[in-house]
Amino acid sequence: MKDIHALKPLLIGITGGIGSGKTTFAKCIEKHGFPVYYSDTRAKEIVNENNVLKRKIIQLLGEDAYDENGCYHRKWVAEKVFGNAELLSQLNSIIHPAVGLDFEEWFSVQKARFVFKETALLFELGLNKNCYKSILVTAEDNIRIKRVMDRDGKTYREVEAIIAKQMPEKEKIKKADFVVYNNSSIEELKKQTTVLIEKMVDSILI
Ligand code: ATP
Repeated sequence: MKDIHALKPLLIGITGGIGSGKTTFAKCIEKHGFPVYYSDTRAKEIVNENNVLKRKIIQLLGEDAYDENGCYHRKWVAEKVFGNAELLSQLNSIIHPAVGLDFEEWFSVQKARFVFKETALLFELGLNKNCYKSILVTAEDNIRIKRVMDRDGKTYREVEAIIAKQMPEKEKIKKADFVVYNNSSIEELKKQTTVLIEKMVDSILI
């Protein structure tokens, strides 16, 4: 019999548009004991921790990208790249590979049979190709907008504009192996989490 602990973990991607509840869902997964890599959270940490990355960002955007304490000036950077697709793409081409390397380091020490990666850009960056399965968390636009307005204090129109720039839900639903509909309560989301984990486990027993 094979020792399953000697196998490489199976990677499952969790994605969803703004306010879909992908982080909330990922936290439910974590409560079941599975490791989760939070790409967006790590990206925010890495821009402050990784000196090579810091230097590249300063080279691209100038010293103002970091404040006097060496902390990433998120708001300033967002304003600087807003509406400048070329600059945004250059910034992403620096940050995304750094997050990719950080993920590889994390993944290389994981021992669980399933590990999860939460990222807003799973399909957009083609990261699903490296995943055993992909999970899309989705919810109706109005619900997502309301949740983000409550969470971030953004206006209806601001959130609507962000949604309009993201990959359409229909397209993501087609690409995903599993879809979680997060239109109801957190309790309902937890139930869907349990069902999904069972499906995932079943998929390797077949
Ligand atoms: P983003 O991409 O903007 O970071 P996200 O997809 O990770 O968003 P979350 O941060 O998980 O989304 O959820 C958005 C907000 O909605 C949070 O404040 C979260 O607490 C809330 N939320 C998520 N799911 C539910 C739910 N089923 N019922 C009530 N509130 C929810």
